[in-house]
Amino acid sequence: MTCHIKSGHNEQGMKQKSLLYHFLSVFSNGNMLSKILTHEACANCKECCVFSRYDTWEQPALNPENRQKAEKLIPESRFVSKGKESCIFRIREDYPEDLFLCPLLDSETGCLLGEEKPFECQIYPFQVMKIDNHIGLVLSPLCEIVMKKPFQFLLEFAREELAGKVFAYARQHPDIIRKYDGMSPVLVFMPE
Ligand code: SF4
Repeated sequence: MTCHIKSGHNEQGMKQKSLLYHFLSVFSNGNMLSKILTHEACANCKECCVFSRYDTWEQPALNPENRQKAEKLIPESRFVSKGKESCIFRIREDYPEDLFLCPLLDSETGCLLGEEKPFECQIYPFQVMKIDNHIGLVLSPLCEIVMKKPFQFLLEFAREELAGKVFAYARQHPDIIRKYDGMSPVLVFMPE
């Protein structure tokens, strides 16, 4: 996500953020993480789908199918390329808030793409990052819910259930590979 909220937002931004927590009560985290992150847990999440307006490049990569659906759902959407085949939403220059809500977040139903949400959203707070010359599956420490779980459990889950699927996708869609953020623990390295 993919999705980061930085500290130090203004009061208006915080009110907006509180509203978002309500929206997240109906947010679906898809199937890939159902073992570690329930829909109820997402209801209290403080991260997904909201970005600092100064870090909108943190948005998940929308693949061509995601974009096509987004254009149908929100015809006024504008995009910026991200990598070879992907894009992210373009924020208007006169966007009035410090926090940028993903346009696909619906206040009633959560992500408008449902189970077909971008791959990065399906696996967050796990992310794929490039560390020097290696690709790793990392765990963003910004997800407070997942970070409360035993690290050994998360490590085994990442190794045994997630890494294979994620790396297979990343090989086909390298746009999801991010630059290492210097803080997320690396759980698994992609085999050469
Ligand atoms: S695409 Fe959906 S899950 Fe991903 S950030 Fe936007 S609203 Fe959230």
